[in-house]
Amino acid sequence: MVVVELEQLFEEVKGCTKCQLAHSRTNPVFGSGNESAEIVFVGEAPGYYEDQQGEPFVGAAGKLLTELLGSIDLKREDVYIGNVLKCRPPQNRNPLPEEIELCKPYLFRQLEIIKPRIICTLGNFATQTILDKRVPISSVRAKPSQIGNYFVFPLYHPAAALHRGNMIEPLREDFKKLKEFLDSGIKPERKSEQLKLL
Ligand code: URA
Repeated sequence: MVVVELEQLFEEVKGCTKCQLAHSRTNPVFGSGNESAEIVFVGEAPGYYEDQQGEPFVGAAGKLLTELLGSIDLKREDVYIGNVLKCRPPQNRNPLPEEIELCKPYLFRQLEIIKPRIICTLGNFATQTILDKRVPISSVRAKPSQIGNYFVFPLYHPAAALHRGNMIEPLREDFKKLKEFLDSGIKPERKSEQLKLL
């Protein structure tokens, strides 16, 4: 059922022309991984290789993400990986606010279908979109909070860590904290009424 629902949503995304990125994309990047994952990682937007292949995190940042997952005994197949934007912004520029507004309902629907325990937001754009707050990633990283029926666990974006070498160690440390949080088995309190986000 989950697989079918995700496939139906993917079909919608393939036909999406809500914003200008529809005209420049090679492929939309819907997301991939384990549809019944406990953790969903949310990045910013596809880059060059993702746009070419239609898969999230297949470039240098993806290599680092795979390695970081390995450091806490997780494989890519154990988790689900997606993005705020489904289409690549030209020259990998930052997503525009209107692009995020138009695209985020797809992400929210993916999350509603998958129902993970933990949403790991990678970088400022994903974190601010999911928390619905303009907070800098540096002040919320590795601090889990409950939003709707999910825990949100923000992390630095692996691409940012590749560009700024001094972020790699903190990112590795934050993955260790993520493992502790995951292993604690703590579950989000079920809310009877869903919050605005999800
Ligand atoms: N960076 C992202 O935010 N997402 C990807 O899919 C690849 C790189």
